[in-house]
Amino acid sequence: MIVPDKGIKLQNMQKRIALFGSTGSIGQQALEVVKSYPELFTIKVLTAHSNADLLIEQSKSFRPNMVVIVDDKHYQKVNEALSGLNIKVFSGERALTEVAAMDHYDIMLAAIVGYAGLASTWAAIQQGKTIALANKETLVVAGDLVSEAVIANKARIIPVDSEHSALFQCLVGENPNHIEKITLTASGGPFLGKKPNFLINVKKDHSLQHPNWTMWAIITIDSASLMNIGLEMIEAKWLFGLRNEQIEVIIHPQSIVHSLVHFQDGSVKAQMGLPDMKLPIQYALAFPERLPNNHKRYELKNFPSLTFEVADTKTFRNLALAKEAMFRGGNAPCVLNAANEIVVEAFLKNKIGFLEMSDIIEKCLETIPFLERPCMDDYVACDTETRKLALTLYK
Ligand code: NDP
Ligand code: MG
Repeated sequence: MIVPDKGIKLQNMQKRIALFGSTGSIGQQALEVVKSYPELFTIKVLTAHSNADLLIEQSKSFRPNMVVIVDDKHYQKVNEALSGLNIKVFSGERALTEVAAMDHYDIMLAAIVGYAGLASTWAAIQQGKTIALANKETLVVAGDLVSEAVIANKARIIPVDSEHSALFQCLVGENPNHIEKITLTASGGPFLGKKPNFLINVKKDHSLQHPNWTMWAIITIDSASLMNIGLEMIEAKWLFGLRNEQIEVIIHPQSIVHSLVHFQDGSVKAQMGLPDMKLPIQYALAFPERLPNNHKRYELKNFPSLTFEVADTKTFRNLALAKEAMFRGGNAPCVLNAANEIVVEAFLKNKIGFLEMSDIIEKCLETIPFLERPCMDDYVACDTETRKLALTLYK
């Protein structure tokens, strides 16, 4: 166990965590962080979709008050395995929002993947909670409404996504009005430098080999297609209240500089470190403290050349489509995200090729009627409609 610094007032620091999406990549890394600081963090809620075995194992080890297994096929198994441990077990989608709205935790780590993470994050915002946000789709889909609701309910969002954590760290102590622009960095993924004649034959297994970050299937495909950084532009817009023109992307294959803020006096701040999601997770959970750890350190001498290059949006059209959706605003980012979730799943099942993903997303953006100022029900309907349309475009 890591002994916290003398400066940390344990009494004020103790945080009760609701970990939504505990069985995923971010969820599991978050539990590693929590395990390192048992005096600072306790787990009150764990949730999974269908990975009952891992949820049971995590619950036995971290002893939350409540767990949610969304897929009710697994309810009985989880309930029986946890009987006698004083852990309430719920199932179904509604249980996620009900538990999110409860009073028994201080900080939600929103680590459900995709659009499915929006409802529980939204419920927590309505209760004025602090949210460590990994689920970028919450802001991509409904960033305007989420931003307004955060202010109206005195909620707080602390980013977990590494680029946004970097920007957030660069902005501590700064006046946001002094930002000239931000630069988000992306590794470029496994196909950096490749052209369409190569990508046309790419299969799932090639795309799952990310050069720097260890991530799971969906986000790894999004990184390979540059959709991930496209979604992150939209995420940054809402998180930091930026104009579209203030957001740029640069490819940085070494993934050491995690993003940069350019200020109006010409000064540029960057946050750097080895690519390891445990750092932004730990930072978000402990904020405003920085906790000591023994993660591997970044040494300048081991990376004598850090390189940067402009993204090839002619080849990687998803980034151009995401940028277009960001500039159009309204329901366009919601359409982009829903179409992308469908095509990534289709690609992972070998039903469509790598380049077809962009064709289908583009068609959805052209076809779904534009709404300038959607309400939450409009977003829900738009997500459903887009998924239906995207499915018809390849089946
Ligand atoms: P994973 O796919 O690894 O995990 C997703 C989690 O969500 C699992 O606990 C899964 O449960 C649960 N889940 C899946 N579908 C549903 C659903 N319909 N309803 C409720 N729960 C569901 O995702 P990641 O951990 O990779 O990503 C989580 C979020 O963090 C994403 O928004 C991603 O963009 C973002 N992010 C991820 C990074 C990474 O390095 N992985 C980096 C930065 C951001 P089960 O296991 O039972 O299926
Ligand atoms: Mg990221």
